Amino acid sequence: MRDAQVSLPRAMLLHPAIRQVVIDTITAIEIASFPPTVRIRIVQGLRTIDEQNALFAQGRTTPGKIITNARGGRSFHNYGLAFDFAIMYDKDGNGSFETLSWDVNYDFDKDGKKDWMEVVNVFKSLGFAWGGDFTSLSDDPHIEKVFGYGWRELLAKYNAKQFITGTNYVKL
Ligand SMILES: [Zn+2]
Repeated sequence: MRDAQVSLPRAMLLHPAIRQVVIDTITAIEIASFPPTVRIRIVQGLRTIDEQNALFAQGRTTPGKIITNARGGRSFHNYGLAFDFAIMYDKDGNGSFETLSWDVNYDFDKDGKKDWMEVVNVFKSLGFAWGGDFTSLSDDPHIEKVFGYGWRELLAKYNAKQFITGTNYVKL
């Protein structure tokens, strides 16, 4: 995983059911598909239910502007089963990866394949779902694996404290 400083700690907070495969898959994609001047960044991984509820409260019961309509528990991010990614390019080769790209059509290595879809298609081949396929609200950076569950079932497990022992990750 080339983006070890930021993405790896975020990956380590994903649900144990997907944590290692996400790390290994990102590593494999980076090595097999892209030159060293391309990295995959995990922009958002786990967002706990408490964090989501705090966001939801903002502008309603706490100061600030309303920034989300999603209550805690309604996002697969809340269970560590989803992550959002972007691609980092060192276009001028000076070792700086400061720019995050959300360009789904870019083909940096000119191999005739859109870089974004190279990432997406590997994850899809492993049973992950891509937010770009969501008909209700298309979400290109989003990748998730939900093991057949809906958020209501996961929230019920969470509220019943059906956790993997010693953690706050729900038992699947
Ligand atoms: Zn997402």
